[in-house]
Amino acid sequence: MQIGDLIRRAGRQFGAAPALVYGDRMVTFAGFDDLTDRLAHALLARGLEPGDRVAVVLPNGIDGVVVYYALAKAGLVRVPLNTRETAHEHAYKIDDSQARALVHAGDPPAETEFMITAAELPGLIAGAPPGPCDERRDPDAPLRLAYTGGTTGKPKAVVLTTRSELAEVANFLVDLLPNLHPGSVMLHAAPITHGSGAFFLPHLVKGAPNVIVPKFSPSAFLEAAQKHRATSTFMVPTMIAMLLEDPATARADLALERLCYGGAPIATSVLQRGIDVLGPVFAQLYGQAEAPLAITCLQPWEHTPERLTSAGKPYTFVEVQVRGTDGQVLGAGAVGEVLTRGPHTMHHYWRRPEATAETIEPDGWLHTGDIGRWDDEGYLHLLDRRHDVIISGGFNVYPREVEDALLSHPAVVEAAVVGLPDDTWGERVAAAVVTRSPADPAEILDFCAGRLAGFKRPRTVEIWPDLPTSPVGKSLRREVRDRMVAAPVAHAAS
Ligand code: AMP
Repeated sequence: MQIGDLIRRAGRQFGAAPALVYGDRMVTFAGFDDLTDRLAHALLARGLEPGDRVAVVLPNGIDGVVVYYALAKAGLVRVPLNTRETAHEHAYKIDDSQARALVHAGDPPAETEFMITAAELPGLIAGAPPGPCDERRDPDAPLRLAYTGGTTGKPKAVVLTTRSELAEVANFLVDLLPNLHPGSVMLHAAPITHGSGAFFLPHLVKGAPNVIVPKFSPSAFLEAAQKHRATSTFMVPTMIAMLLEDPATARADLALERLCYGGAPIATSVLQRGIDVLGPVFAQLYGQAEAPLAITCLQPWEHTPERLTSAGKPYTFVEVQVRGTDGQVLGAGAVGEVLTRGPHTMHHYWRRPEATAETIEPDGWLHTGDIGRWDDEGYLHLLDRRHDVIISGGFNVYPREVEDALLSHPAVVEAAVVGLPDDTWGERVAAAVVTRSPADPAEILDFCAGRLAGFKRPRTVEIWPDLPTSPVGKSLRREVRDRMVAAPVAHAAS
């Protein structure tokens, strides 16, 4: 089975029904199969060869999707780049991936051997023959390169294959979205270069349209969700928090059955408010670029108050373990590193054999770098990223737990907790918060005192106008820490 086979079959089965919708542009299932076939032929005719990397910098829209799946049909390796990143970041990834071609919307960040603009695509497609690119592709050959968030060090590219992509589709269909049918509608409000893109094929194969909006905002989301009667969507937690801040959300007439969220920890206060406002539609997924969006999931009916701190249970066909520092497999209650194994995991890190060897065991187990523990009923609770754990006076402090406490303060909308070097304690806990109304740092510190053990309490809290986030909305604690080290502002705790 190839990605192209799924698209071809959907084209035959759902022919003239809408497969892709963007503003007033629509592409049918049969049309999508034809466009991607022709563009695949056109790219190969230009001189690109299967296995070549093709960087794509296109905004959310139909062109990007057509290019992605034409590349898959041609055996070319997609390197999707987020348009919110800088030209400098793009140039690094184009160089690192040794991209032979770049598809862009104008103002290219780097020169490659083949330069293709979005405006040229219709001409390329019109001039190419129809019909499939027939070659059988190796299921373990690279299909796409996904750059890690870069929350530590230089971004590394994760190599994902046809085998991993098909496993991801299967995992979603079995566990996350088991009831998709031609009446379902997926709304892509987040960048399709990232998490949202994983929802494209599961909907396509079931005959459901994928509706794309250019850029997330609460109003753009609400308008499209109501207009198209969206049943599924994907958001990172920051987007959910923004949506809930908009009073129009509670009044909207939505048809959502699944609001899938993940990619970063969510504050329980945000999640509870989300359920109160939008109903029992939340489905959490925990994954990472190395194991795309399918390690564990928390189903809507599992969102009970005592489970809101959990990332759920392993997907049916995914293995998950928590291991201690000397590699022993841990049972309920014990804290260790999360590992996963299955066809969904990456093949290797692109041109980084040492990092690959550190991350994947010879028997296929992949180290996620996340710290977690099982509870008695088999739910995984994530504490934090291994490298974000703060060690203060010999105690481990998980920033996420402190951020959760801060976010339960009525004025606090965003929080980032980091460890700063400290002569006495090794590291001390420091927080930066964004507030929705004027607030007093000393009062926020007092509030934490009632909720957190002494060693976990922030020693300082700073109120910032906003917090640094990655282009996909993840909080960048490393940058918060760097800024604090560069410009210390002391509000000493009492
Ligand atoms: P990335 O590879 O950039 O997608 O980042 C993946 C990381 O985000 C994971 O290793 C986790 O640390 C975090 N993450 C993803 N999903 C969740 C989730 N549902 N809950 C908590 N953390 C998550």
